Amino acid sequence: MDLADTTSSSVRAAKNQLLELEGVRQTYSKSDSPDLVVLDDVALKITEGEIVGLLGRSGSGKSTLLRIVSGLVTPTAGRVLWRGHTVTGPSEGISMVFQSFALFPWLTVLQNVELGLEALGVPAAERRRRAIDAIDLIGLDGFESAYPKELSGGMRQRVGFARALVVHPSLMLMDEPFSALDVLTAETLRTDLIDLWIEGRLPIKSILMVTHNIEEAVLMCDRILIFSSNPGRVAAEIAIDLIHPRNRLDPAFRQLVDDIYARMTRRAPLEKVEKPISGGFAGTGIAMALPRLSTNRLSGLIEALAQAPFNGEADLPDLAASLQLEAGELFPILEALQLMRFAELEAGDVKLTEAGQRFAAAEVDNRKRLFAEHLLAYVPLSALIRRVLDERPSHHAPFARFSEELEDYMSEDDAEQTVRTVIAWGRYGELFGYNEEMRQFNLDDPS
Ligand code: ADP
Ligand code: MG
Repeated sequence: MDLADTTSSSVRAAKNQLLELEGVRQTYSKSDSPDLVVLDDVALKITEGEIVGLLGRSGSGKSTLLRIVSGLVTPTAGRVLWRGHTVTGPSEGISMVFQSFALFPWLTVLQNVELGLEALGVPAAERRRRAIDAIDLIGLDGFESAYPKELSGGMRQRVGFARALVVHPSLMLMDEPFSALDVLTAETLRTDLIDLWIEGRLPIKSILMVTHNIEEAVLMCDRILIFSSNPGRVAAEIAIDLIHPRNRLDPAFRQLVDDIYARMTRRAPLEKVEKPISGGFAGTGIAMALPRLSTNRLSGLIEALAQAPFNGEADLPDLAASLQLEAGELFPILEALQLMRFAELEAGDVKLTEAGQRFAAAEVDNRKRLFAEHLLAYVPLSALIRRVLDERPSHHAPFARFSEELEDYMSEDDAEQTVRTVIAWGRYGELFGYNEEMRQFNLDDPS
């Protein structure tokens, strides 16, 4: 390649913007309460030749955003431009790899892969040729006539990739494509994909990948957009300049992972009283959605933190590695502990509070007592439930009494889950009882 060529191609690359989002907002209306704001003022750009990661917590609106980009959902407000034109429906040139593989069980590998081309009106012979190419490329040679149920999870996801690649999309969207796979299979597939990308063998221009796995994002992406929750928006952007193949043990790699952990755990200003939310811990009062977390998970983490090698304080990536948890699984537990003042999060570190230390050292009855005190003090819904039970002559109250009140602030699912979590926590602390059959809180069998 001569110099003129290089120059013109790099100029072209710099100019070739594929996707632009501006002021994208997505709300879902709710019958008698304010709209649920899932995405607010989202802006991003994708140019040719890059892998961009969108890193955010579960429920922050990442899948919603990918559906908007792919043209499956029209945003409530804002602009989505694909190659300079407003997106109004599914765009040619964009394809998607799903977390759940989404294969048709009654079709063979080859038929599943060919399917995308049928919709484009590609003639049969060419369909076949291109599907076979995509299958070979992704390492499934010889499995053309197998059915999905005959394949391992990793191979099924390879079919998912082949199906997305066969249309030669300019932009491939990936929605947590490795998160349903076991650790080793996921790593093999990531590495294979990156190798193909580096060798220029993928028939695509760019990738937009959604993930909640920080290491995965640092391993694969050229740029990471950190997505905030409630509502979802791009809160920060981090360029990853490490050359491929990247080494997870490289100090520069570790530093980036640490920095991103720190950013993602930075505490939001507490004085700001939040609007209705869904998911996460933003907000105060009862308008605080809680994830499904057992008290075993909470006490297990307190114990792990209290013991060597951490002795009360840990670097988050180290803690995640030692517990074999991903950030997406670790964060909700840490936030629950932070909420209840058993731990403090700061700049990528977590530290047990004095109460957390006491909990770790206590016997079971004292643990329960301490837990109940903190639950009442810091989880307003538990205090509300207890107060209602104390005030009612029957000392009973139905599940719906609380879930419906929460639905003014969050989705029905989140409300259900939040009440469920507080039931589990309240039972552990013996703050109240709950009868599953009658779907009723009570004060008589607090266990
Ligand atoms: P993520 O992929 O980051 O986990 P999602 O985009 O799946 O997040 O969901 C974000 C929020 O939007 C969740 O609170 C979810 O309940 C809500 N949501 C998604 N789709 C709908 C819908 N069709 N109607 C109402 N709420 C929805
Ligand atoms: Mg999702």
